Amino acid sequence: MSKTSPKDIDDDDTWHQFSDAGYSSASVNFDNEQGKDIQVNSEEEWFDGDDFEFEGKTLDWNSPPCPTPLGIAHMIKIGTCNHCLKRVSGKNNMSGEEIRIEAYTRDNSLESSFSNDLCPLCENLFDDVDNIVERIIEKINNLEYTTIQIGIHLPKDLIQEAHEITSRHGASQSMPLKTSMVLDIQNTINNNLNADINFVKDKPDIMILVDGLTLRVDVDVRPIYYYGRYRKLSREIPQTRWPCRACKGRNKGCDSCEGSGLQYIDSVQDLVGEPLRIALDAKDTSFHGMGREDIDVRMLGLGRPFIIEIKKPMGRISEMSNLVKEINTNSDGKVEIDNLIKTERSLIAKIKNSRSDKSYNIRFRISEELEAEFITNSILELSGVIINQETPRRVSHRRADKIRKRKIVDIYNIIIENNEVEFSIRAEAGTYIKELVHSDEGRTNPSVSDKLGVDCEILWLDVNEIHDDEENKDN
Ligand SMILES: [Zn+2]
Ligand SMILES: [Zn+2]
Repeated sequence: MSKTSPKDIDDDDTWHQFSDAGYSSASVNFDNEQGKDIQVNSEEEWFDGDDFEFEGKTLDWNSPPCPTPLGIAHMIKIGTCNHCLKRVSGKNNMSGEEIRIEAYTRDNSLESSFSNDLCPLCENLFDDVDNIVERIIEKINNLEYTTIQIGIHLPKDLIQEAHEITSRHGASQSMPLKTSMVLDIQNTINNNLNADINFVKDKPDIMILVDGLTLRVDVDVRPIYYYGRYRKLSREIPQTRWPCRACKGRNKGCDSCEGSGLQYIDSVQDLVGEPLRIALDAKDTSFHGMGREDIDVRMLGLGRPFIIEIKKPMGRISEMSNLVKEINTNSDGKVEIDNLIKTERSLIAKIKNSRSDKSYNIRFRISEELEAEFITNSILELSGVIINQETPRRVSHRRADKIRKRKIVDIYNIIIENNEVEFSIRAEAGTYIKELVHSDEGRTNPSVSDKLGVDCEILWLDVNEIHDDEENKDN
């Protein structure tokens, strides 16, 4: 696939390449080329007597550049159209037609020498603007947006040829062909829609790419990102969508997933994302959480920060609070969110790289009853300690895992009821709490099981809080 195919522009990097190619590169090339031409001009011998011909009209390389009357007269003689006359003549306050009439008044022989063939500076591309705009409006008519970016691809040889002429005979502040075309398209869209659309050069809601050769119009709707925090009150749902283990979600599911294609019917991603996707008439969602908890672990407190990405949204939402209510009602107590705030893609990396402490509640059963005081004291010995953890067996089966050091910041609220024990704990990011309790056959050291000298069977685990705000304060 080529870099400029609209299907490619899924991530920000290619996106920027793409928009640059369609927009700002023309003026950069223009300046470079101009430098070269000045050098060539200084060599008198370069002109070998062969007149450069365009569509049968001879170019006079010696005529002075615009905005001199001779320069403008020359542009008219070679067949420059009104659009191009305006952009290369250096007379910014006049329309192309006014510039032409002024020149005809000065030299009435000019009118008869002008032929209406192809304009050498645009090959009459500006005549296609109405047609292009019609196609654009047809494609964006049902979309909702606040910003639009327009890019245009023009044949390289046209740009080079137009540029060669402009750099010799055009005014020094001539507007490049691409820039001029884009402006003309934008103005025509606004006129035809009787609108005042905010056209931008970066991060648009909608990207429109026009192929100047085929007049093909491609519209790319950029994803929308919402930031929120979720509480997960169920021990039976994963954070993100899980494809069915048997069919991997292919071919519209199998018998074991009853045609859903999913291992778990519900997920935080879909309980939050589906109402959004439907409201925005979008294609799909992507879920980016600040870490994740196990399926059987609840997420309480203020909830876990996340960003949900809505792909190819054909609509926009103005009133978010109703949708938040709808999400909470539909998820039937499994998931709760307080709000959703529109954000940008760059925040995903911040969320993913966050290394904040977390607080938990854990309850477990011990294999022999022990004295309460002994239990309390043994567990408290782990408070403030740095522990060594190999990657848990449930996560990885590889042998040579690195041992990670994690700090147990605090342990408190120890409750003992016969052979069941419960406590609260705050630990450094990345600590495996279940393993800290049952020791994972010695792969976590020290551990609660080790300290008590008995086996510990986990009953449940809750994440009580993610201390990301405190992390922000430190920075
Ligand atoms: Zn032209
Ligand atoms: Zn299946």
